[in-house]
Amino acid sequence: MRLALLLGALLMATSANAEAPRWSIAIHGGAGTMNRESMTPAQQAEYGAALAMARDAGVKVLAAGGSALDAVEAAIVLLEDDPKFNAGRGAVFTYNGTNELDASIMDGSTRAAGSVAAATHTRNPIRLARAVMEDSPHVFLSGPGADEFSREQGLEQVDPDWFATPERWRQLEELKAKKLGWYDVDLKYGTVGAVAVDQKGHVAAGTSTGGLTGKRWGRIGDSPVIGAGTYADDRACAVSATGAGEYFIRAGVAHEICARMRMKGETAQDAADAVIAEVGALGGSGGVIVAAPDGSTAFAFNTPGMYRARADSSGLRETGIFAGD
Ligand code: ASP
Repeated sequence: MRLALLLGALLMATSANAEAPRWSIAIHGGAGTMNRESMTPAQQAEYGAALAMARDAGVKVLAAGGSALDAVEAAIVLLEDDPKFNAGRGAVFTYNGTNELDASIMDGSTRAAGSVAAATHTRNPIRLARAVMEDSPHVFLSGPGADEFSREQGLEQVDPDWFATPERWRQLEELKAKKLGWYDVDLKYGTVGAVAVDQKGHVAAGTSTGGLTGKRWGRIGDSPVIGAGTYADDRACAVSATGAGEYFIRAGVAHEICARMRMKGETAQDAADAVIAEVGALGGSGGVIVAAPDGSTAFAFNTPGMYRARADSSGLRETGIFAGD
């Protein structure tokens, strides 16, 4: 009898260990042509620390029983404030020398979503996207109207100088001097994003970016486009993308990954790999992060690197920059 009890307890312990994580989070800070040779160990450590810090802001929310949506926002706010990444402070410049910020967020439990394009004064565009989702009857606001809504909502406003950094200015000048294409400058996309699943099994996704260096004519990429750069659906997954936005829009990347998981039963990794291969076949480059309600997470990219990190309730803690990290 005692032996049976002991065996039962042992079995329970084993199955508890094998259980899916109760929560998880994955973040990215952009994909691109980064390679080990062109980054000093100090730079690599600096990016690793920034990614870990943003991820851990989300971990704190999730471990305390908070929502996937709050975790995604907490992680992205830190990346937006960090000038190393192309979102919020440190956003790339348009051809005309301004910063136009795009962001989106989606709640997988309700499929509510909010997006903004070409916002110019909101310190944290991801908060503006969330306000569109929660406090407006709309999904997508743009330009001066998005700025006006932000002021009305009482979100923190900054002078556009807040976003500008010398390195991004140098990249714009290089693009103009060498007459480079949008996808040629430094080829580090640098957009930021997060996906998470919380203890209730709800997923959420968010993405924030300055877009592409030298963008003009009001160009908008995939990041604020629901279904392209961001998507979340409790029946499937949460996705945030980074890369050559035009291709990600055409492939409907984020929705396509969720659709494959929902209707074909693919794993997060298989669906992400397949859709990134489709982007590649069209001629595009970039990557995605995915989180599924079962707690699994996946990274997929067809560039030499993608700034990334993840964590879950089973103790997983990872950061990476290059393929193979
Ligand atoms: N996907 C973004 C865009 O096309 C760029 C990036 O990922 O950095 O606007």
